[in-house]
Amino acid sequence: MNKPMNSAELKAIDGEHHLHPFTDFKDLKERGTRIVTKAENVYIYTDEGQKLLDGMSGLWCCNLGYSQPSIVEAVAKQMAELPYYNNFFQCSHPPAIQLSKELTDLAPAHINNVFFTNSGSEGNDTVIRLVNRYWDLKGQPEKCNIIARKNAYHGSTVAAASLGGMGYMHKQFNTLGNIHHVDQPYWFDEGGNMTPEEFGLKAAKSLEDKILELGPETVGAFIAEPIQGAGGVIIPPSTYWPAVQEILNKYDILFISDEVIFGFGRTGKMFGCDYYGTKPDMINFAKAVTNGYQPLGGVLVGDKVTDVLKTQGGDFNHGFTYSGHPAAAAAALATLKVMRDENIVENVEKELGPYLAEKLAVVAEHPLVGEVRSVGLVGAIELVKDKKTRARWGSDGEAGGACRQASLNNDLVMRATGDIMLVAPPLVITKAQIDELIQKAMKALDEAH
Ligand code: PLP
Repeated sequence: MNKPMNSAELKAIDGEHHLHPFTDFKDLKERGTRIVTKAENVYIYTDEGQKLLDGMSGLWCCNLGYSQPSIVEAVAKQMAELPYYNNFFQCSHPPAIQLSKELTDLAPAHINNVFFTNSGSEGNDTVIRLVNRYWDLKGQPEKCNIIARKNAYHGSTVAAASLGGMGYMHKQFNTLGNIHHVDQPYWFDEGGNMTPEEFGLKAAKSLEDKILELGPETVGAFIAEPIQGAGGVIIPPSTYWPAVQEILNKYDILFISDEVIFGFGRTGKMFGCDYYGTKPDMINFAKAVTNGYQPLGGVLVGDKVTDVLKTQGGDFNHGFTYSGHPAAAAAALATLKVMRDENIVENVEKELGPYLAEKLAVVAEHPLVGEVRSVGLVGAIELVKDKKTRARWGSDGEAGGACRQASLNNDLVMRATGDIMLVAPPLVITKAQIDELIQKAMKALDEAH
């Protein structure tokens, strides 16, 4: 076993040797790292002894918090029994097979198959492969364009980041040429004088305009998160999804719901598409399916697509060594059992979601806050200088950065996307802990003000 290191040693090595995701490598050494050494329930603990309420469920994934012994035990048991085998070339193993049944039972009725990956990004690469394969087999290979949305986050591989609509990511690599981006339904920032309902229709129309510009016969799929998560918890106006679904049906375009954040109860429904009443042809999932304890993702694939893939035959030349890894699949099965046994999703819908919304309404009164919004257990706080004009403080992200730091100083993890503060606490949080989160957030707002 490696010799345990003290905090100073860990920080020095981290700054010297460890390239962190989404981090400026240049000044990490000077800024130092917050090293998390332990976690319990909805709290994380640092090497310096700070205890923080985790208002972001890790990276939107530890939906059942950090103290779920049954998941840990299931993984350990599986590791002892069958630590690895794959699902390639007509092989499989019990946990992956069982999980395929449980997930497709949870999915909408028209979805009855799943392809396993290890992450949300791999899932979106898989989506592109499935979309291309489907239209090829249908004899319409020209339907190879895919439409996504500006400011979307779909992952970090070249294909997934091309689907994403984050300009700052696109600047750093060559994006795939067959992916196009349309407006997001971000009323607070872009709605001007329109009502949210009018603006929702306008954002949907930008999809139809793009389809017509490219030619409907060339567009194979549209991908979107039910709510833009990392982009700032952009909750669409009520008119948006019905109009989008109608457009996709009209032009025979596959709909991919990227539910890497919103799958498994975050909205108070099992999937975001259940919440909005949309009918996706594929659902990409990851994160909370294992409570974040093991890396596992996948694409739930609807009958419209599998009817073609399964009847036309021929190998689907795609997959990952660890697709449906036995230990990860065991973690997912144990996670889904806790969700069932403890009525997690129903509790978010009926109790915790409404409670968070009620408490956020108080935050909305703060002078620095222009809007709060939430669905289930995900929320956003828009920081402004002027409530009326919605003018921001200083440069983009300045208020968000200050508020994020103030929240950390007050033992709370919130995320900042520009000047939007995000919260997505574990779905097992109690009402008293929601009170604690709100108190700490208010203190952070006061200090950032
Ligand atoms: N899709 C969405 C909507 C996400 O939010 C994320 C990650 O946050 C991803 C895909 C990528 O998932 P991963 O980081 O597991 O590759």
